[in-house]
Amino acid sequence: MTTTQTGSAMDYASLAQIATDHLQALLRIDTSNPPGQETQAADYIAGFCRAAGFETEIVEATPGRGSLIARLRSANPTGRPIMLTAHLDVVTVERDKWERDPFGGERVGEYLWGRGALDIKSLVAAELAVALAIADRGLALDRDLILAFFADEETGGGFGAGWLWQNRPELLDAEYAINEGGGTALRVNDQTFYLCQTGEKGASRLRITAKGSPGHASVPLDDTAMHRLGEALVRLTAWTAPTRLTEPVRQMLTTIAPVLGDAGTAQVDRLLAAADGELTWDDIAALGLPFDREVMDMLRATTRDTAVPTIVHGGHRINVIPSEIVLDVDGRILPGTEPEEWRDRVQQVVGDGVTVELLSEETGILADPASPFFEAIAATIDAIDPGARVAPFLVSGGTDARNIPGVKVYGFFPFPPTARNTEYPALVHGHNERIHLDDLAYGTRFLYDLVVRFAGS
Ligand SMILES: [Zn+2]
Repeated sequence: MTTTQTGSAMDYASLAQIATDHLQALLRIDTSNPPGQETQAADYIAGFCRAAGFETEIVEATPGRGSLIARLRSANPTGRPIMLTAHLDVVTVERDKWERDPFGGERVGEYLWGRGALDIKSLVAAELAVALAIADRGLALDRDLILAFFADEETGGGFGAGWLWQNRPELLDAEYAINEGGGTALRVNDQTFYLCQTGEKGASRLRITAKGSPGHASVPLDDTAMHRLGEALVRLTAWTAPTRLTEPVRQMLTTIAPVLGDAGTAQVDRLLAAADGELTWDDIAALGLPFDREVMDMLRATTRDTAVPTIVHGGHRINVIPSEIVLDVDGRILPGTEPEEWRDRVQQVVGDGVTVELLSEETGILADPASPFFEAIAATIDAIDPGARVAPFLVSGGTDARNIPGVKVYGFFPFPPTARNTEYPALVHGHNERIHLDDLAYGTRFLYDLVVRFAGS
C-alpha cells in the first residue's frame, strides 16, 4: 500500500470517484474529430488545473483546436519533468447504431458509456484526477509533473501534438511520458502479463504509378497502364518482407518465455540468436505463444515492414484506355528501416514497369524498455498485482508518441485481467463504446502509485 510522506494512506476509492466524475463530464463534451473543437474540453480541464496551482496554458493551433498543457512545479527538481499525456479528440460516431447517447456520459450499471470512454478520455480523466490528487495532498515531487492533453490525435496530430512540438517545444520538455496504447493484461498458466507499448512503426506510405499507351478500348493494346499496374499489384501482394525482431519484440519474447516451459525457452533463445533475414513468421508462430488471434495478428504486423494496397485512382470512361493508373499503398516500417531504403525495396519488388514514390516519410520510434521509468512501471504493477510482469511490445499503428520525439513515451494504462480485455478492442472506434468503472479505478490507482514511486521525494 502506497503511503504519502504525510503518513496518511491514499484513499483510492475517492480517487476513482473523481476520475469517474471527470470522465462523465468529458464524455458529455463532443470533441468528434473532424471538426475536433477540443478547446471546450481543454477549458473544462484548465479550470481545475488553475485552481490547483498548475501553470496552465491552452494552445490553439487554429481556433477551436485547443491542447492543454498544465505544469505542477517541483520545489526541488532533481530530474527532467515527467508527463502524463492523452488526446482530447475522439473519432466520429454513427449515432443510429448506438444503444445510448454517445455524448450522454450515461452510467448504466457499472459501465460509463460514451465515445472516448476507452479511446481515450478515460486516460485523460485518470491523469487529471492523479495530478489533482498530488497537488491537493501537497505531495513533494522531485520532478515537475506535466499534463499534456492534445487535440487532433485521431487525424495525425497536425493541429495538436505535432503542431506543439514544432511551435512550443518548451512546453513539452519531459524525459518520460505515459500515454495510451498499452496496458492490456493477459493471463497465461497462472502468470499475468501486462503489455507496455515501447515502440511504434512508422507510416511510410507509397504511391505506385503505372503509365502506358492510351487508346480507344474497342481496340485492345498490349502495353497499357492497366497491364503494368496489374503486374505490379500481383508482385506486391505475393511478397512478404523478411521477419525482423526489434528490441520491444525481443524483450516481449524474453519476458514471456518462462511460461512456455523449457522447450519454449530454448526455442525463444534460438529465435533471438538468429541473424536478420534468417527468421520467418512460421518460426515465431511455431512457438505457440499464448496469445489470442488479435495479438498474434499484431505481432505478425510488427515483426516486418508491410505494404498494403488500399486505393486505386485512374480511368474516366469505360471506352477509353487510361494512360495512367495510380495505386496508393499503406506502408508501415519497423524502427530501423529508413523510408528511402523502403521505397527502393518496394520498387525492386514491383519491377521497373511502374514507379514508386514516398507519400510520407515516418520512421518507427522506440522508447528504451530498460529505463528507470520502465522499471518503475514494472515495480508499480508488481506492488498492485503481485507476481505480474510487464512485457514491452511494439504497435503497428501510431499515437501521438511519434509527434513528441524528444520524450520517451510508454503506452500504458493498465486494466486487470478480465474477459473485458477481449471485448474492448471492438468498442474502440466502434459502436456502444463504454468502460467498466473497475477498470478506470484500477488504471487511475496505477498512475497515482507510479508517479509517487518514480518522482515522490
Ligand atoms: Zn486514441
